[in-house]
Amino acid sequence: MYPASCRTDLHTHSRASDGRLSPAELVEQARAAGVELLALTDHDTTDGLDEARQAADAAGIALINGVEISVSWEGKTLHIVGLNIDPRCPKLCAGLAGLQALREDRARRIAAKLASLGVNQPMERAAELAQGGQITRTHFARLLVSDGLVADLKLAFRRHLAAGKPAYVATQWAALDEAIGWIHAAGGLAVLAHPLRYRLSGAWRQRMLTAFKAAGGDALEVSAGASQQAQDLALCTRDALNHGLLASVGSDFHGPEQRWLKLGRLAPLSSQLTPVWTRLDRSCAH
Ligand code: AMP
Ligand code: MN
Ligand code: MN
Ligand code: MN
Repeated sequence: MYPASCRTDLHTHSRASDGRLSPAELVEQARAAGVELLALTDHDTTDGLDEARQAADAAGIALINGVEISVSWEGKTLHIVGLNIDPRCPKLCAGLAGLQALREDRARRIAAKLASLGVNQPMERAAELAQGGQITRTHFARLLVSDGLVADLKLAFRRHLAAGKPAYVATQWAALDEAIGWIHAAGGLAVLAHPLRYRLSGAWRQRMLTAFKAAGGDALEVSAGASQQAQDLALCTRDALNHGLLASVGSDFHGPEQRWLKLGRLAPLSSQLTPVWTRLDRSCAH
């Protein structure tokens, strides 16, 4: 068990998916920021965890093995973070391998669409940017920025890569209960990530929370960073309490270029909530 008072950040990315830093660099920045308990949660891969583990041992900070799984639910994409997973669990590995194949196929389709919009060699260049990690829409967004087609990542999504835009490709990711099942099979806890980022109405958000809980979900990402609006923190706090979910905190850090976002700089959880990390067994940290 980790104490409730730990300075904690349980949602971060490295170059194994769409983060800017290597796993070791991420751990070093977390240490410098005073983080005591860190989870690396790359999109649909655990490939960064071995390097992060070595760096965390050397830096003397506690690392939780994590992953952020892409899920399709009611035609929407949700992200389920798995915490304290055994990355060698065969069921989890098989599930992630399936999602990685979907990512590869989707990347080729996105690239074909971008090529027809005049972008030069998008697949080759996205793969080069990803450096062997999972190819995400973020990589294509970075290409569009570096080609001068858009001024920033947000615009790349808004004009080209978001749902309904010209280079969007719909994908059937894992089912909600499948993803939670893989996480549980791997000994982990399942966290519904950034619940306010799915552009859902209040009624749909409640439906999502009910479905997540019914599928065996454990925790809700309540605190999303110091820049989170107080009313959003209050909303997520109420949701976690009403649905009987543990509470997690995560910056969703992707790299230093997100200057408004700092590792481990997260609003504290209400004392009414149970922090998810107090339910993670140190002996299970693989
Ligand atoms: P993917 O899982 O490949 O569809 O990529 C999703 C990732 O794209 C998210 O995890 C974010 O890092 C990034 N992303 C999604 N929407 C935006 C946005 N509007 N602005 C910047 N990054 C975004
Ligand atoms: Mn991302
Ligand atoms: Mn996410
Ligand atoms: Mn994330």
